[in-house]
Amino acid sequence: MYCPNCGTQIPDDSIFCTSCGTRISTAASAAASPTASTPSSYTPPATTGMPPTQAAPQPGYVNLPRKDPAIAAILSFFLSGLGQMYVGKVGRGLAILVVQIILFFTIIGIIIGFFIWIWAIYDAYKLAERYNYFVQQNGRAPTSVDAW
Ligand SMILES: [Zn+2]
Repeated sequence: MYCPNCGTQIPDDSIFCTSCGTRISTAASAAASPTASTPSSYTPPATTGMPPTQAAPQPGYVNLPRKDPAIAAILSFFLSGLGQMYVGKVGRGLAILVVQIILFFTIIGIIIGFFIWIWAIYDAYKLAERYNYFVQQNGRAPTSVDAW
């Protein structure tokens, strides 16, 4: 499906647009709107040669928070656990960092720490994706009490 506000392609089960934050309520709008016969994927042809005018933000527009998976991964590349803190998993990030510091004092620990370092980069990336998915599904940032 496509966002009716900004036209970005988003997953069919989206409640909020991942790009502009507009709430997607297809069931409600289909019942209420008389123009519901127009397919949601319809895009007007640019016959006039002019670029299509961007629709003005709706009154209910909210700028939803997002975490960049690439930034999360890069942060954990430079400091193991930092990317986890960036996406809001502060305790997880601190635990990774402390374990890495302890492991650094032995040869075998450095070897183990290397693999934890690689894993933490991947973990931070996936956490940012999960963060964005939570925001997309709930329309707000997850807190420490949310399971995500
Ligand atoms: Zn949108």
